Amino acid sequence: MKDQSSRSGHVHLIGAGPGAADLLTIRAAQLIAGAEVVVFDRLVSAEILELVPATARRIDVGKLPGYHKVPQDDINALLVRLAQSGAEVVRLKGGDPFIFGRGSEEAAACRAAGIPVSVVPGITAAQGAAAATGVPLTHRGLATGLRYVTGHRARDLALDLDWQSLADPQTTLVVYMGVATIADIAARLIARGLPADLPVLAVAGATTAAERRVLSTLGGVGQDATCLPPEVPALFIIGRVVTLYPADLDLMIRAEAAPDRVAHA
Ligand code: SAH
Repeated sequence: MKDQSSRSGHVHLIGAGPGAADLLTIRAAQLIAGAEVVVFDRLVSAEILELVPATARRIDVGKLPGYHKVPQDDINALLVRLAQSGAEVVRLKGGDPFIFGRGSEEAAACRAAGIPVSVVPGITAAQGAAAATGVPLTHRGLATGLRYVTGHRARDLALDLDWQSLADPQTTLVVYMGVATIADIAARLIARGLPADLPVLAVAGATTAAERRVLSTLGGVGQDATCLPPEVPALFIIGRVVTLYPADLDLMIRAEAAPDRVAHA
């Protein structure tokens, strides 16, 4: 037993990666194996939760889209409280904690309360999706750069994204949290000059058993994305690199419709 009066704990903000347990870093796996308390999100896969010791307390703060089960401020306060009680807190977040994960807000709240925080990087969903599908995120002659953007607030805040700079044919765009807004995003990119036949690969549940892909185009993705399984997180890879997709038909939805829509470089 720890002397809880004299010792404050620690928060480990850990990236759980895109889903497959063997894509965890060794450091993440070691911290999970030794966890006393685990605070986790909806995005953390069942396969990874199986690695949590039976003796550890599990706290689910998962959020469903549009329905915030636990407000972010409450999660921040919970982490602080748990650490103040002396616990070594494992805060598991999908992908990388510092990419669209609000991990930085949790780290700031802990630091403000004097709680030591360490951050363990995870494989972000885009990298998981790229590796799983065989689509590189950059490729000489097709993309010289890469941007990760959130589609989450694009509908409400029309000026939130710099559409003109995003509409660059040399840059691969990966849209996170964009299933509901992809039609709007695609229309804005076409309006700023990207070709309607630019290929787009939607990947749901990348690296998990639920993985599914939809191969489409900028002009077609608004419609085609409606085939994505609603309960599985998905992202969109937009750009000429998608012409390199080796088209694994087993995991494709609408496989019959898509290939001839893709413009080859
Ligand atoms: N921190 C996470 C991102 C959290 S935002 C990371 O680095 O990956 C949540 C979004 O991530 C989802 O809406 C979806 O766009 C994407 N996402 C997370 N896991 C995914 C997966 N296995 N496959 C495809 N997209 C995923």
